Amino acid sequence: MKCVICKHGEMIKGTTTITLERGISTFVFKDVPAQICDNCGEKYVDQQTTRALLKKANELIENGTEVDIRKFQVAA
Ligand SMILES: [Zn+2]
Repeated sequence: MKCVICKHGEMIKGTTTITLERGISTFVFKDVPAQICDNCGEKYVDQQTTRALLKKANELIENGTEVDIRKFQVAA
């Protein structure tokens, strides 16, 4: 797959760090699976992973968490 941003790079499998901010809360997820452009560095996280991140963020907010840094783990 070619990168849609620079049109030159190839997308390679890797991991990235995603920061989500919701109101006063900030959550950092490390080791999130992503496709990364080898030319411009653009990162793509698939829909399923994005949904899992948002779900986890909502859980943290419900627990009253304001700051959280964790490794992303795909739910079984
Ligand atoms: Zn690119």
